[in-house]
Amino acid sequence: MGIRVVARIRPQQPHELEKDVIVSTASNATLVKIPNPKNESEDFTFQFSSVYDHTATQQQIFDNEVSPTIKHLFNGFDVTVFAYGSTGTGKTHTMRGGKTLAERGVIPRLLSGIYRRARKIVKDSEGETTVEITLSYYEIYNDKVFDLFEAPEKRTLAGLPLRDNGCKTVVVGLTERRCESLKEFENLYDQANINRSTSATKLNAASSRSHAILGIRLTVTTGDEVRTSIASAIDLAGSEDNRRTQNGKERMVESASINKSLFTLAKCVEAISQKDARIPYRESKMTRILSLGQNNGLTVMILNLAPVRSFHLDTLSSLNFANRTKRI
Ligand code: ADP
Ligand code: MG
Repeated sequence: MGIRVVARIRPQQPHELEKDVIVSTASNATLVKIPNPKNESEDFTFQFSSVYDHTATQQQIFDNEVSPTIKHLFNGFDVTVFAYGSTGTGKTHTMRGGKTLAERGVIPRLLSGIYRRARKIVKDSEGETTVEITLSYYEIYNDKVFDLFEAPEKRTLAGLPLRDNGCKTVVVGLTERRCESLKEFENLYDQANINRSTSATKLNAASSRSHAILGIRLTVTTGDEVRTSIASAIDLAGSEDNRRTQNGKERMVESASINKSLFTLAKCVEAISQKDARIPYRESKMTRILSLGQNNGLTVMILNLAPVRSFHLDTLSSLNFANRTKRI
């Protein structure tokens, strides 16, 4: 069913100066404008399905871009929502968000929307239809998969293996948690995010260097008919060019690996958009699991952008990536 690419430009931070704001959206809210770094009197423009500026709320992003996918999910299609962008551009804000209701991100809102629809379907069918919702949450770090619903001390250095299961690639041994309410989810999710940062600290890494993937598996049963589908919500690792900032040996290995999976993602996107017969999914775990363009599902990519000059080259490279992605 294809991919929808939208851009979100975050507000400038208190320490960022007005005069350094270089990214803007044009009036019809589908264009992003950014100066050519080699000749600032010239602008580049990029077009997306929608572009959100600093005034966009969490609710608007969810209502316009993610909420419409829920009905497809209940019809048996897989849905993938992912945030792409450099570190500090608002990926985690967009996906996870803050504590208050208004600041809630895509993930809690998606869960809440799914629970609401599930309750309605069960009620309308007078109990004939049942809906089961299970969750998994894992991260991919240095091309290894770690279960975030598992306590950090249970992790093995090698991480969890993948297995090809028909047309899908699954993570072997991943915890699937049943979850009956948003409240229950929030406790689970908060604990898992603590696990994430604890283990990142142990590995002497930052969570911005790993991809975090929440899987929401839905099983809708009516009599003999069983429909399953998965929604995946992904907070990708920072897409900044780590080669420009590397400063130590350890860091170089990490950067190379992160660049590798995002680089493989970019190569896959390129191959799909060129209609190549061979798409290099298998070159990284992230692209094997994501299977972009493979499934008959729906993908929403949210391109997160910072408005200021210090991100100039990374913003351009993200825009170029997103530009190729929309041709899938
Ligand atoms: P990333 O996950 O891409 O590294 P974050 O989500 O952590 O970026 O965002 C970086 C900072 O900018 C955080 O302090 C975050 O609260 C803030 N921020 C990002 N997007 C927004 C937004 N739309 N509105 C307000 N603050 C934002
Ligand atoms: Mg983040």
